[in-house]
This record gives sequence, C-alpha cells and structure tokens, in this order.
Amino acid sequence: MKIICVGRNYVEHIKELNNEAPKDPVLFLKPDTAILLKKQPFFIPEFSDEVHHEVEILVKINKVGKHIDRKFAHKYYDEIGLGIDFTARDLQSKLKEKGLPWEKSKAFDGAAVVGIFLPKSDFKDINNINFRLEKNNKVQQIGNTSLMLWKIDTLIEYISKYFTLKIGDIIFTGTPSGVAKVNSNDNLKGFIEEKEVFSIKVK
Ligand code: ZN
Repeated sequence: MKIICVGRNYVEHIKELNNEAPKDPVLFLKPDTAILLKKQPFFIPEFSDEVHHEVEILVKINKVGKHIDRKFAHKYYDEIGLGIDFTARDLQSKLKEKGLPWEKSKAFDGAAVVGIFLPKSDFKDINNINFRLEKNNKVQQIGNTSLMLWKIDTLIEYISKYFTLKIGDIIFTGTPSGVAKVNSNDNLKGFIEEKEVFSIKVK
C-alpha cells in the first residue's frame, strides 16, 4: 500500500507557514514503512530538532481506480480516519529552500500515524466532519472538512490522474492550522467528532 498526502489544503495553515496558495493540490507520498506501528511511541528522529504534528483526516481506498471521475469518487472509499503527518520542519525548510524533494522530512519511519477508521455511513455529510488534536489534554489543532480547499471527492479525482489507487491506500487530506513542535513526553490524542481515534506518546 501507499500513502498519498495532500499539502496546503486549508487556508489558515497556508497562512501560518507563509506558503503561497497553490493552483492545484500539492501531493507527496509516504512509503508503508512510515506508518507508526500500533501501540508504539513516536520517537523524535535524531536528524531533527523541530518535528511538527499535522493532524489530518484520512480516507482509505477500497477499490482499484485510475482516472476516477469526481462524481464516482465516493464509491472508492467507505472508511474515514484521522492521523498525523509528522514533519521534520527544520529539514523540510532546508529542502524547500533548495528546491529539493521533501521525503526525508516527511516519509521517515514513524512519520505517519494512522488511527482507527470509522464507517463513512457514521457521517451525515463527509464535507462537514469536525476533528481535533489534543496535546497533553489541551486542544492544539481543530478542523472541519468543510474548510478544505479541495474536498475529498475532488482530491480522489485529482490524485488518480497521476497515481492508480489500490485497495488499502490511504490519503492524508491536509492539515488545518495549529501545527507545532512535539517534545518528548507529549501525549497526542486525535478525535473525530467526540470519538477518540488515536493516542500517541512522544519519546
Ligand atoms: Zn500534512
């Protein structure tokens, strides 16, 4: 399986990093080795002094598809989740400055937290889902899928122009504002509406 991540999908997050608003979705990939194993802590890698959490809504693909039309995109997933796109921001900034790919800062081991998935049928409207990240029991990031620049079905259409989507692939749909550095002993909890879907210890 592969992980396809969307960058710059929420206006407030684009502003907080002083990024330019893109004309098209920004895409990058993480390998399956980036997934943080269940019940394991997240270890801050030795090559970074500034790892940020980015809480993101996840979509799990349930059918093979290529060149998927937006109006059929809803048939390609029936589970929604929440995760963290851990980002070595210091390293990413250096790579961006030089125009180099971001993988070392985004695709390293453990850089993808994947929480439990919930059936799509739990939600009245996929484009109106509340989610949040709590750091040490305080709300740190808060979002709603209605604030995405590109909504889930549009992302599936766009991504599948470039990459064939396969069963089990996961799309990270971008982070709202509130990204910040993690420190050892932090506890990160993710919620979709009021349901806790992951809890991670940082070491
Ligand atoms: Zn992200």
